[in-house]
Amino acid sequence: MGSITLSRVTKRFGTVEVIPPLDLQIDEGEFVVFVGPSGCGKTTLLRMIAGLEDLSSGSVEIDRKDVTRVAPAKRGLAMVFQSYALYPHMSVRANIGFPLRMAGVEKSEIDRKIETVADVLNLTAYLDARPGQLSGGQRQRVAIGRAIVREPKAFLFDEPLSNLDAALRVNMRLEISELHQRLGVTTVYVTHDQVEAMTMATKIVVLRAGVIEQVGSPIELYRDPRNTFVAGFIGSPKMNFINGTVAAEYSAATIGIRPEHITLSKGAGTWQGTVGVVEHLGSDTFLHISTEKAGRLTVRADGDIDTTYGDTVFLTPQANRIYRFDADGNALGRNS
Ligand code: ATP
Repeated sequence: MGSITLSRVTKRFGTVEVIPPLDLQIDEGEFVVFVGPSGCGKTTLLRMIAGLEDLSSGSVEIDRKDVTRVAPAKRGLAMVFQSYALYPHMSVRANIGFPLRMAGVEKSEIDRKIETVADVLNLTAYLDARPGQLSGGQRQRVAIGRAIVREPKAFLFDEPLSNLDAALRVNMRLEISELHQRLGVTTVYVTHDQVEAMTMATKIVVLRAGVIEQVGSPIELYRDPRNTFVAGFIGSPKMNFINGTVAAEYSAATIGIRPEHITLSKGAGTWQGTVGVVEHLGSDTFLHISTEKAGRLTVRADGDIDTTYGDTVFLTPQANRIYRFDADGNALGRNS
């Protein structure tokens, strides 16, 4: 239960084609994250799966059944949005039970399901509270509860954490991942946050201007990005790109090297540089270094490094972690 197949789907708003023909297979139980810059079509694609947006052409299948012309409510999917959209005058209990009441489910059955969902989401103590009495994270849990209670074939999340503060985001990220592990329900999740994509997904779909740039597990995309766009999007801090003569030494138009794959030394190394801004994160230090040969580079070093602004340092890239790209930005493979 819960496989989703998009075949040659397209979307036009007026004359603007936002999604050119696109194919995607989402298997049962997967946690698929759509990631990409603002305006790349993530939400549109999710809404096309949900049935909230008509397709200009192509088809959507759920569990191998064509649902392209089936109404959203009949697709058996549950959507959780960025805004919680809870009913303020109803208790948590009534909010969670709402979809079941609408579906005409018997009261004792509704009560039983609400109790189970509240238990899963740690909301039992709040069942009689109103949304206004809850924190942002608790409200988002109620919204998720309202989605779970319907026992959908798949969950569709549209940037559900973007209204929460940083600490709460991390908590909710864990909770949603744990929920997926426990329930095993197919999940499609939209975010522009590559950390959310990396930490939650079993499969990431990287989109640019409505086109799938690459699909793969987080670690596949990190290890073997297909082009400079994916290489620059996955990983934090971002991969460094170097053009010109340095790249030519590796028979490439551009080479890419991640901040964590550059060794910093005060004595000797491949590229000499001057330290600019130093960002101490506690666990790590990010150094922004200007080199004559390779331009500006970001380097990740130990948290307790004592290098400061203006120091002269030497940088050595790990030889087998240098990514090579052609003039169009397509991967040529790694240096070996
Ligand atoms: P964000 O991360 O900013 O939410 P997104 O990747 O989810 O962006 P979409 O909201 O799917 O992007 O929008 C994709 C493109 O389609 C954008 O260029 C947007 O302006 C356009 N678009 C979306 N909805 C409509 C609409 N109803 N009418 C016209 N254009 C639209």
